[in-house]
Amino acid sequence: MSQPPSVASAVPAPAQPAGLQPDDPPAVAPSPTDPRPASPRPDGLRAVLFDLDGVLAPTADLHRRAWADLFQAVFAQAGVSQPYSDRDYFVHLDGRPRQDGVAAVLASRGLELPWGEPDDPPDRDSVHGLGRRKNQAFQAALSRQGVQPYPETGAVVRALSQAGWDLAVVSSSANAGAVLAAGGLAESFPLVVDAALAARHGLAGKPAPDSFLYAARQLGLPPARAVVVEDARSGVAAGRAGGFGLVVGVDRGAGRAALLEAGADLVVDDLTELWDHLAGLTQGRTVR
Ligand SMILES: [Mg+2]
Repeated sequence: MSQPPSVASAVPAPAQPAGLQPDDPPAVAPSPTDPRPASPRPDGLRAVLFDLDGVLAPTADLHRRAWADLFQAVFAQAGVSQPYSDRDYFVHLDGRPRQDGVAAVLASRGLELPWGEPDDPPDRDSVHGLGRRKNQAFQAALSRQGVQPYPETGAVVRALSQAGWDLAVVSSSANAGAVLAAGGLAESFPLVVDAALAARHGLAGKPAPDSFLYAARQLGLPPARAVVVEDARSGVAAGRAGGFGLVVGVDRGAGRAALLEAGADLVVDDLTELWDHLAGLTQGRTVR
């Protein structure tokens, strides 16, 4: 994956940033229940759990278009007068498991369909069928257009990894693996909690915190030592509900006020700003 030079230069390589010398005493003593060594960071944070769509890669745009196509057709067929809009995406769909989102949009227009079965074909008028229909459209767009991570993603992920942060992806998407692979990010994230893994382990979807809590457990960390990074209200709410040490909203369209209201500790415009903040935590100053 190539990285734009402008971003690489904006993110300093923190192989051994000041304040992170190997002999420094840990600022936080390990608790008896925490087998991991203490974090060198003053607040004990040591992992970053990233949402994928809209945080690491602009796949949210593909999702938005696929949802819009689906519901414009469904609403036309049902004679719904209030047209589908981007507001429906941000309020009902963004970050949530597919079926929950379908049911929420239908309910917002007084529509109801049978829930159906997970293996319903895409032409069946059920919640699962509509979800399948949308996913087919998304996958077709993904293979047609591909996906590139946001320009700053690769440099920031590398910098965090080199600075010793544990990294994971926690996504409601069933396509997380394909998106990470298409974007050249798969190797950066040995732990990916996606829709398939959530289903296998019976993890409730965002805004429930279960998938983030699962990721923290897999990393051997209590939630207070992990950062959640999310662009959706539902995901921010999940981070807040899980008691995570820091919940960062990335405003890719949901709106700063909405993310703060959902429980974000801070809202950034992009991942470079996130890196600035985390590096500032480490070094006691903001890097720029
Ligand atoms: Mg997202």
